[in-house]
Amino acid sequence: MAQEKNVADFEVQRHSLEHVMVLAIRRLFGENIKLGVGPVIENGFYQDLETKLIPEDFARIEAEMANIIAENLPIEKDVVDIDAAIAYFAERNQPYKVELLEDIKAKGSSKVDSSAEAAATAELTEQGLVTFYTIGMHRDLCRGPHVASTSELAGVAYKMDRIAGAYWRGDEKNPMLTRIYAVAFPTQAELDAYYATQEEAKKRDHRLLGKQLGLFFISDLVGGGLNLWTPKGTVIRDELDKFVWALRKEKNYSKVAVPHITKRDLYDKSGHWEKFADELFKITTREGHEFALKPMNCPHHSQIFAFEPRSYRDMPQRYCETTMVYRDEQSGELSGLTRVRAITQDDSHVFCRHSQVAEEFNAIWDIVEKFYGAFGLKLKMRLSFHDPADFSKYLGTSEIWNKAESQLEEMAKARGADYFIAKGEAAMYGPKSDFMAIDSLGREHQVATVQLDMNLPERFDLYCTNEEGAQERIVMIHCAIMGSIERFSAVMIEHLAGNFPAWLAPVQLKLLPISGEQFEYAEKVKADLLAAGVAANLDLRIEVDLRAETLQAKIRDAAEQKLPYSAIIGKREAAANSIALRVRGKGDIGAVTVDDFAQKFIAEILERKLESSF
Ligand code: ZN
Repeated sequence: MAQEKNVADFEVQRHSLEHVMVLAIRRLFGENIKLGVGPVIENGFYQDLETKLIPEDFARIEAEMANIIAENLPIEKDVVDIDAAIAYFAERNQPYKVELLEDIKAKGSSKVDSSAEAAATAELTEQGLVTFYTIGMHRDLCRGPHVASTSELAGVAYKMDRIAGAYWRGDEKNPMLTRIYAVAFPTQAELDAYYATQEEAKKRDHRLLGKQLGLFFISDLVGGGLNLWTPKGTVIRDELDKFVWALRKEKNYSKVAVPHITKRDLYDKSGHWEKFADELFKITTREGHEFALKPMNCPHHSQIFAFEPRSYRDMPQRYCETTMVYRDEQSGELSGLTRVRAITQDDSHVFCRHSQVAEEFNAIWDIVEKFYGAFGLKLKMRLSFHDPADFSKYLGTSEIWNKAESQLEEMAKARGADYFIAKGEAAMYGPKSDFMAIDSLGREHQVATVQLDMNLPERFDLYCTNEEGAQERIVMIHCAIMGSIERFSAVMIEHLAGNFPAWLAPVQLKLLPISGEQFEYAEKVKADLLAAGVAANLDLRIEVDLRAETLQAKIRDAAEQKLPYSAIIGKREAAANSIALRVRGKGDIGAVTVDDFAQKFIAEILERKLESSF
C-alpha cells in the first residue's frame, strides 16, 4: 500500500516534470515549436511536438531541465474562457492546441483514443472555462494538478528515454509528429533499478528465448500471429496442458471436443457475431452459407449441455477443452506470443445451479493456486463487482449478485488472498475475478479469469429440472487456467528466463560421453533411465551427445540450451555404473550412481518440482 501511495503522489511530479521538459525544449530549440499532447504514462511521460529531435539532444535537454528546477520557477494556474483559449493558441500558430480546444468546446472532452491524452489536455467546466498552467515562458492548456514550483522537483530522477514518430491523434491521415519519451522516478536508485529491470527483461524476452531455445517461430508463408511450434516447443505445450488436466481431473471435469468452424446462427444467438464483429474470421461456403472460425468455445459447450435434459442430480456439468480459437487481430498489433491470431485456450465451462457457484469457484481457485504456485508465480486478484448505484444495466436479480459477490469476497478472505474489489467493473452478465501473476522481475501479468455468466444460459435457454420437478435456470462459469497457452508461455518463459524445471524441459538430461569409448555405456544409461521412467508412467526426455566434439564444447552447448541436467561419462563412470552430474545453475556436483539419480530425478518430475532435487 505504502508503495502505491508513493507512486500515485509522484504522478503530479511526473506531470510537472513534463512541463519542465517542454520548457527546456522550447528554450533550446525554439519558442514556437508546435506542440501536441504530453501525458504522464507508466514510469514517465512523453510529449508530441513538430520538430526534429535526435538522441544526441537528450543530454542538453536534461541539463536545461536541471537549470529550470534550480531556478525555482513557480507553476501557476489560471482559468480562461474557452474562446479566449482558442484565440490565444491561434495567434501563436499552435494548430494542434486549437484543434483540441475546438473539440473540447464541441464535446466537452478531447478524448480520442486514450484517456492519457484527455488527462493531458483539459476539461471544459460548466461555465465554459479551461485551465492553463504557466511555467516561465511555457503556458499550456492542462488539467493539472502540478507542484507549486520547480524547486519541489529537486532530487527527483529523470532521463530522456527515446524518440518515436506518432501520428497526430493516432490517425495515419494526420501529420507525423515527434514523440519524445522520458522516464522519471522519485529517486536515482529507483530510476537505476528501472533500467536494470529493463535490461534483464530484454535478455529474457520470450521472442528471443523462443528462437534461441528453438521453441516456436513465425513463418512468412503461414502468416503473422500464427505461431508454429517445434517438437521442443510442443513438449512444453503438452506438459502445461497435462498439468492443467491433472488438476481439473481431481475436481471431476470432463473433456469435450468441438469443431473449429461453425454456422453463423450459433454466434447470432450467442451475440458473438455482433460482439466480435471485425475480429471474427468469416467464411462463406460454396453454397453461400456463412460460417465463422470460432472466437470462443462457450456457445458450443452450451450446446453440449443442452444435448440431454438435465436433472438437479446431473449438476454441475464441468466441461473442459484445450483448443485453438481465432481472432482477426490487426497486423500492426501482433507481437510474439502475447498478441496472436490463433490462441490456444485451456478453456472450461461449468454449468451449475446458483447454489453451487461458491463451491465451483472455490474448486477453480484451488486449481489456479496449485498451477501458478508450481512456477513460483505470486498471485493478486481483482474482484470485478457490479455498481450498486445502477443495477438496471445488469442481468439477474440484485439478491443473486449480492450473494455471489459476498461469497467471492468471503472466499478471498478465507484464503488470505491478495485481492481488491473493482466496483462497477463487472460485465453485465455476472461478476468475475481476474488473477494477476507477479513475475520474478516484479511485473504484473493478467492471467486466469473466472467469469460468472447469467447471459448465455438465458440466450440458449439452459435449465435443469429441480427437486420440485420445475425448470430452474442455471448459470455458467467460464475459466481458462492459463488464459491461453501462448500468453502463459510468454509470461512463464520470461519469469524463469527459459530455465524450465525438469518436468517441463524439452530435454531433461543430456549425457556427454568424453570419447567414443563411452558411447555404448551412455546409450545403456539412457536405456536404463527410460525403462525406470516407463515403470513410473513417465516418458523421460534424455539425449546422448554422440558428436565428435570436445567435452568443453558439449558442456557449453548443454548450458546454452539451459538443460536442467547434463552428465559427463568417462572411463571411471562407466566402471562404477555412475554419472558425473552437472546441475543447471550449480555446475558439477560429482558422481551419482545411475540408480540414485533415477530415483530422485523421477520423483522430481512426478511432483513437478520447480527446484532441482540435487
Ligand atoms: Zn467461455
